[in-house]
Amino acid sequence: MPRRRRRGDQRGNRPLRAPARRRGGGVQGNRPDRQMSRPAPSPPAAGSPPRVLVMGGGVAGLTAAAVFARCGLTVSLVERAARLGGHAARLSCKATSGCVHCGACLLEAALQAVRAMPQVTVHLAASARIRRRGGAFSFELDPACGPGPGAPAKEAAAVFLATGFSAFSPAERPLGWGVFANVLTNLELEDRLRAEGRLTRPSDGRVPGRVAFIQCVGSRNAQIGHLWCSAFCCAAALRAARKIRHLHPETEITVFYIDLQSVGRAPDAFLEECRRGLRLIRAVPGEALGAADGGIRLTWFDDAGRMSLEEAFDLVVLSAGMQPPADLAETLAPLGLPRDSFGFAAEEGDRVFAAGSVRRPMTIAEAIADSRRAARRLLAALGWEGPRADPAFDPVPKAAAASGAQPAPPRREGGR
Ligand code: SF4
Ligand code: SF4
Repeated sequence: MPRRRRRGDQRGNRPLRAPARRRGGGVQGNRPDRQMSRPAPSPPAAGSPPRVLVMGGGVAGLTAAAVFARCGLTVSLVERAARLGGHAARLSCKATSGCVHCGACLLEAALQAVRAMPQVTVHLAASARIRRRGGAFSFELDPACGPGPGAPAKEAAAVFLATGFSAFSPAERPLGWGVFANVLTNLELEDRLRAEGRLTRPSDGRVPGRVAFIQCVGSRNAQIGHLWCSAFCCAAALRAARKIRHLHPETEITVFYIDLQSVGRAPDAFLEECRRGLRLIRAVPGEALGAADGGIRLTWFDDAGRMSLEEAFDLVVLSAGMQPPADLAETLAPLGLPRDSFGFAAEEGDRVFAAGSVRRPMTIAEAIADSRRAARRLLAALGWEGPRADPAFDPVPKAAAASGAQPAPPRREGGR
């Protein structure tokens, strides 16, 4: 008679059960992480919930951390930057007469979800050195930016990788970024809109009369081996262009594009509206040259590829795409997680789960959905079950997208 396997993951690991709750609140063994200088190792106390190490404090990492905490796990969230939020924290609200579903305010909902969860310990300006230990992991925070030498290694039952993407640097392209003050990347444009609530030129503080967006910078480009579409930048550019027109109706905006992809809900109506207010040109300018009064001259070929055209603009915005972080191979090595053919992280390994734009280019809403799916797979792999297990919990409901809330100012968070 075949032996019956205990319930658990496919490798036959025992299911993990949530510990009994103490009267008066709190979960046994889930103490605030304050004793950082004690050098002894710190395996989880018997009966305490397993720990998940979440790497990355952008929307994907925050979403997963909130799901794990809601389900009763202990979470260490390690973020390399000095604040949470990742690239999404730089985005401005694009609402004009109404919400245009850019997703920027979903970040604030994710931040609030994590702040409400005492099981999540956030380590900012930190990185984790990870080792496999049998079926699990141990990790130490980098003493250079973590709690200091002698901090004990911690054990984690699984690792959730959500370290996001690197923005392509257009310095290598002949489009004038880093040369002319009035050539910005899309994220630099967001910084200005967010900080000023209007658009001015870096060179002289004037509202630009003519603005050009150049799409697909660093994406869909065989010359540099970036064959992928970055998924977010068409919709982001069109929403930003509409917002600029809303703020400055006298400003004329031209968008140079290859294809207009992933423009969100009701794409036909949205594109039709964009065509009425914006000048859309199917072409890729090849070069940017300086012009009088801080202007930028762009040259491109007409649609038939026969005639070279040239115009001057007051401000040029480069829609720089996503690429895998330069040190991703180093990050993945101790986790045993491979990369895909484009160099992004694979989806899943042995107790390692990747989600969000570290896996492939995606929008904020897609990263949140991807993270929730991966978090559910991690919970299933751990066989985690207990009275608080709630893998369907949605820490960032879509309704949050209409709040218009900008993420709160950065705040320093350490071991709580
Ligand atoms: S989303 Fe648009 S701008 Fe971005 S890479 Fe794809 S086609 Fe190009
Ligand atoms: S309300 Fe939120 S989702 Fe809507 S446009 Fe503003 S930031 Fe974007």
